[in-house]
Amino acid sequence: MDLDSTIVFARGAFRRYDEAKVGLLTHGLQYGTGCFEGLRGYWVPADRELFLVLLRDHYERLRTSAKILLMQLPYTVDELIDITIDLCKRNGFETDVYIRPCIFKSAEDIGVRLHNVPDELAIIPVPFKPYLDPRKGLDVCVSSWRRADDTMAPPRAKITGLYVNSALAKSEAVVNGYDEAILLSHDGHVSEGTAENVFLVRRGVLYTPDPSQNVLEGCTRRAIMDIARSELGMEIVERSIDRGELYCADEIFFTGTAAGVHRVASVDRRPVGNGKIGPVTRRLSEIYHRVVTGREPRYQDWLTRTYAPAATPPL
Ligand code: PMP
Repeated sequence: MDLDSTIVFARGAFRRYDEAKVGLLTHGLQYGTGCFEGLRGYWVPADRELFLVLLRDHYERLRTSAKILLMQLPYTVDELIDITIDLCKRNGFETDVYIRPCIFKSAEDIGVRLHNVPDELAIIPVPFKPYLDPRKGLDVCVSSWRRADDTMAPPRAKITGLYVNSALAKSEAVVNGYDEAILLSHDGHVSEGTAENVFLVRRGVLYTPDPSQNVLEGCTRRAIMDIARSELGMEIVERSIDRGELYCADEIFFTGTAAGVHRVASVDRRPVGNGKIGPVTRRLSEIYHRVVTGREPRYQDWLTRTYAPAATPPL
């Protein structure tokens, strides 16, 4: 399917992508005054079903991000979920999908501000392409760029303009021969990847930066903490983490909607553990994949079915 003929939701209706353009002076484009989400759908051919993952969590977060930018979603979360299902059906997707809801300041005029600017919601689905190479562990560097601080613009909101911070770090990493970057916060503690949360395993305990470390509070982060607690019985510690702890970890992995659970093989050219995938990362990654493809009945309320009628019995 080509992008131009993809059905999107824009200006309150379903339209073709090429009929839903914005103008050059659009505020959100000029000033980064928008916020967005990334949703994922897993196509399971055996069930002829597209499972949409954690829709409610993502739309709740979009609502919070919008509130921070003095915007209000024009629909309830339930309505947004229904629109998203309808959108996938209209496109007839039989492939993994990535869905990009966004709300942005839509005025076409000059003058940076948040107040007294109309906004507009759009939802754009595209076939999913792996974001990170799923076959390999990632070689990661600690970025020379620091994570934007909450005192500058709050990273717990998924704000369009804030992604300049991620883009600087990602390109620096890739141009220097790494796959990804980990950013430190202003006070020098581990924050997160450019589009992923980070976890460390040491002596059987799972560590991740607490929400005050300028992280986006990831939906996958929360899901993985739930799974680690209930399926692996792990102790989970959310606290500030030093850069040096990255070098001592037995295992490190990233989580994210696009990334899933993705192992880190090295940090600043120091192998993580023995450089191979560790048992915790392997288990979490396997269970997470089973969950998002509808193979774990206990987690069925994390998923929304696209094609099955609402009356379909539980998994
Ligand atoms: N941090 C950043 C900066 C991100 O862009 C993302 C991707 N949305 C994440 C973390 C992971 O969040 P989630 O699990 O909700 O996709």
